[in-house]
Amino acid sequence: MHIQQMTVGMLQVCSYIVNCEETGEAVVIDPGGEDDRIIDYCESSRLKVRYLIATHGHPDHVCGNGGLQKAFSAKIVMHAADADFFWQPQTREYFSMLGLPESPEPDLLVNDGDFIAFGRERLEVIHTPGHSPGGISLYSAPHCFTGDTLFAGGVGRTDFPGGSSRDLLQSIRTRLLTLPPETIVWPGHGYGGLQSTIGEEARGNPFLGGRAIG
Ligand SMILES: [Zn+2]
Ligand SMILES: [Zn+2]
Repeated sequence: MHIQQMTVGMLQVCSYIVNCEETGEAVVIDPGGEDDRIIDYCESSRLKVRYLIATHGHPDHVCGNGGLQKAFSAKIVMHAADADFFWQPQTREYFSMLGLPESPEPDLLVNDGDFIAFGRERLEVIHTPGHSPGGISLYSAPHCFTGDTLFAGGVGRTDFPGGSSRDLLQSIRTRLLTLPPETIVWPGHGYGGLQSTIGEEARGNPFLGGRAIG
């Protein structure tokens, strides 16, 4: 599995282009703008982009979906709870203030325990609500893409519509810190660093109360 991290857009989202090295089949996780840069990379690496996967439905993480779907005919994938939530008029109105392009509707809805396969690789969907109701992390040992749930030295905000700090901490403690400590954390923003590990976050993340699990 090859991982290309690219920080894009006004809100500096970490987008990930992940491909199977044998077949060139690929997914883009959280295309957050600067579509041309992502498209150029995929084309010059001769990747076949199958899925555009949203770790959650916030506009900064899905605003590239429209452009990349056009370029690659890739399917948009999201957790069912965020798809429901983000297509409600009051939620759309709240987020339209950001002025980012809207995502087309998802083609595929996923749930906890589902696998998204591309070439000989696959990512497991771990439902990690709290930052948003349908937030997911994507796991393929030793890699975990944590979106805005867990950052290097930080955790996601919970003051957006549908956020819950109780759910967020529970998701992190019971679903992420229980992964092997050597698991590489690839966050949705690079606020505290562009990469971490589950072990480092369990030991040192000040938002997790110093209580290490797993
Ligand atoms: Zn977010
Ligand atoms: Zn974000």
